[in-house]
Amino acid sequence: MADCLFCRIVAGELPARKVYEDEEVLAFRDIQPVAPVHVLVVPKRHLDGLAAAGAEDAPLLGRLLDAARRVAEAEGLAEGYRVVVNQGRHGGQSVGHLHLHVLGGRAMQWPPG
Ligand code: AMP
Repeated sequence: MADCLFCRIVAGELPARKVYEDEEVLAFRDIQPVAPVHVLVVPKRHLDGLAAAGAEDAPLLGRLLDAARRVAEAEGLAEGYRVVVNQGRHGGQSVGHLHLHVLGGRAMQWPPG
């Protein structure tokens, strides 16, 4: 999508600090990190969010989680980490392209705000 921020990062039109890439997935550092490690994992194909995914997207969703695990390992998050998907207004989603947050490097709180 031409006007989508993360599609433009995927296309190389906007800069990003990439940490992982394969045919279907790109991972890059969040521009406003909320933890010592804060990486976004996105599908290269545009999806508005998790709610826009269908059953046919299950393999892609699996690849996103697998990429999140790879990122966490590569970032040395042996003590643990959190993977978050914010969906829609109540979920706090601000960018309309599906993404997983990989957060680590400190102890997380529960419940989230
Ligand atoms: P969410 O609120 O779940 O939609 O998360 C969107 C995330 O994208 C936020 O954590 C932002 O800091 C991050 N973000 C916005 N623009 C950029 C960018 N150009 N590069 C990297 N991260 C970004």
